[in-house]
Amino acid sequence: MDVKYYLRERFFPHMWCAGCGHGIVLNALVRAVDGLGIKKRDMVMVSGIGCSSRISGYVDFHSLHTLHGRALAFATGVKLSKPSLNVIVPMGDGDALAIGGNHFIHAARRNINITALVMNNRTYGMTGGQFSPLSGVGTKATTAPYSNIDREFDTVELATGAGATFVARTTVYHVKQLQSLLKKAISHNGFSVLEVLSQCPTYFGRKNRKGSAVDMLNSFKDGTVPVGSKKKQDNPELIERGVFVDKILPEYCEAYAELVERATAK
Ligand code: SF4
Repeated sequence: MDVKYYLRERFFPHMWCAGCGHGIVLNALVRAVDGLGIKKRDMVMVSGIGCSSRISGYVDFHSLHTLHGRALAFATGVKLSKPSLNVIVPMGDGDALAIGGNHFIHAARRNINITALVMNNRTYGMTGGQFSPLSGVGTKATTAPYSNIDREFDTVELATGAGATFVARTTVYHVKQLQSLLKKAISHNGFSVLEVLSQCPTYFGRKNRKGSAVDMLNSFKDGTVPVGSKKKQDNPELIERGVFVDKILPEYCEAYAELVERATAK
C-alpha cells in the first residue's frame, strides 16, 4: 500500500523543523503498520503534548491528542473499552518520563497491551529547549545555560524495572531496525516500550554544539551498538540497541475479562 494511504495529507506540510528526527519515526511507523497488514480502522493513536505528539495528527488512524503526560491514561481507557484495537502512544521526554512518568510505570506494571513509543531527543523542543529527564549531566539547555546536573533516566532500565514485557531501543539512523522493532512492539501482547533516539537539531543540537542534523544522525551510528556487543565492554559510553525484554505474562484486558467472567458465572 502507498504510505500516503495512512497519512492525513491535508495536514501537511508538517510542523517539524528541517532535520528533526520525528519525521523518520512517522515514516517507519506507517510502513510497519502497512507491513503488519493492520486496517486503519483498527489503529488508535493517543498522544499528549510536544513535537513528538504531533505525529497523531498526521496519521489517518483514530486519534486523540490529549493532555500533557496523560496520554497513557487515555490510552488505557480506550484499550479497556475495546481491547481488539491496536493502541499506540507516541511520547516525548516529558509525556513519557517527566509529567507522564507515573502513568508510564503503572501502565508497564499492569502489562496492558499498548505500544509506548518514546521519542527521546533529550530536550523539550516544542517549548523552547528546556532540559528534560533524558538530557543527562553536562548537557546545556535554555534552562541550564551553565549545564545540567540532573542524571538522566535510562528508559530501558526503567521500563524493565516497572514490568514492561517488551522493551527495545533503536535510533532514527537505524531505520530498518526501527521498522522491525515497531512491528514487534505492535504485535506484542502486553505493554511494549520502544525507545527511539531522535535528533532535535534546533534546540538540543544547537545548544550542545552537535552540528547539523546529519552530524547528529551520524552520532547515533557511531554511539550505539547492538545488544551484547563486545565493544560495549571496552567503551561503556556506547548505547545498546535491540530487544532487551520479550516475555509473555498475563495481559491486563484479558485478565480483567476472565475475572468478570468468573465473578458472573452461575
Ligand atoms: S524543536 Fe526540535 S523536536 Fe521540535 S520539531 Fe524542531 S527539531 Fe523537532
